[in-house]
Amino acid sequence: MGILSDKLSAVKPSQTKAMTELAETMRAAGKSIITLSQGEPDFDTPQHICQAAIAAIQAGHTRYTSVAGITPLREAIVEKFRRENNLTYTIDQITVGCGAKQLLFSALMASLDEGDEVLFPTPCWVSYPEMVKLTGGIPVAIPTSVDNGFILGPDELRAALNENSKWLMLNSPSNPTGAVYTASDLQALAEVLRDFPRVWILSDDIYEHLVYGDVEFATMAAVAPDLAERTLTVNGVSKAYAMTGWRVGYAGGPLELIKAMNTVQGQSTSHTCSVSQYAAVTALNGDQSFIDEFRAAFSTRRDAMVKQVNAIPGLSCDTPDGAFYVFADCRELLGKATPGGSVLSTDMDFAMYLMESAGVAVVPGSGFLADGFIRISYAASEDDLTRAIAAIHAAVVQLTEATS
Ligand code: PMP
Ligand code: GLU
Repeated sequence: MGILSDKLSAVKPSQTKAMTELAETMRAAGKSIITLSQGEPDFDTPQHICQAAIAAIQAGHTRYTSVAGITPLREAIVEKFRRENNLTYTIDQITVGCGAKQLLFSALMASLDEGDEVLFPTPCWVSYPEMVKLTGGIPVAIPTSVDNGFILGPDELRAALNENSKWLMLNSPSNPTGAVYTASDLQALAEVLRDFPRVWILSDDIYEHLVYGDVEFATMAAVAPDLAERTLTVNGVSKAYAMTGWRVGYAGGPLELIKAMNTVQGQSTSHTCSVSQYAAVTALNGDQSFIDEFRAAFSTRRDAMVKQVNAIPGLSCDTPDGAFYVFADCRELLGKATPGGSVLSTDMDFAMYLMESAGVAVVPGSGFLADGFIRISYAASEDDLTRAIAAIHAAVVQLTEATS
């Protein structure tokens, strides 16, 4: 008998982390690999935020904090939700955790009983189904298609809901597709959700600031205020402020749920790092102008990437409205043979071929519950992106029809 619980044996490791770690191992072995598998800005954390962290250490803010987070940070979050999202929370309705990731986990942990279903549109972020399994719920994927821009429609939502449904997890802009729900997309879903009062909405807004062109970000609790009493709004500083390693996420929602999430956190991690919390205060309260600069750089890269990916025979993608990924359809390439004679049967085979032959790490779509795609992150330098796309192109043109 092994050590692992039945629960854990059903849970897969994160594909984004696995591909990135494999790239690191190959690099350590002397291979040159460009990592486009991890969703994190390549920019450095802005200096004024780093300085705030240094000042916090020097001022002795190096001890345990309250579980929900230091008061100035929760005040800054209340103000952020008011200023940017037109959402009103009291300070007790805010909690801070080790990244948005932990807050999603705590929310599920605090609320799921056996048999509870958690719905999410797919393609979805790799961690959603696995977190649901870890916290004792049943993940329910609602497939969306490239033809409707990977947006979940009200009829598909209604068809998936039943008396066991507990949460609908929404992520806009989406990882991995970059799809952005407009206010009217959300209104249409809200209409359906009003008929299912047991269902809560988890709005994962981590890519809020990364929307391009005329597209406007919208979030459920603001679009449908009558649903705010059963909506948890999750966000964080990782993507907008280039602070992935600092591990600060936050959530606003109904008091009963926030208190229960604090219990989960208080009995597991206690709280996120005190120094990071002080840095996050400065991030949220300080100068925001660099976010526009990040956004402009991502937007330029997005346009270049979409063009270059579509120029590769057998790969295609639409222009994503947000986040920093292109989700490319590689179905035409499946079934082809590599120069070494192996047949690429799955998107995982294709991703491994790109890693080995092109020296580029991407994530197979199957990790996002979408077979036949690969996710390429464009949160990398323009130089790396240009070299990576040229290498992918060169590797793809070497594929040949497989002889059976
Ligand atoms: N949600 C989505 C959709 C993400 O892509 C990520 C990326 N890591 C997160 C949540 C969590 O971000 P973090 O824990 O760094 O705040
Ligand atoms: N969310 C990012 C990604 O999808 C970071 C890695 C992770 O936490 O999965 O690449």
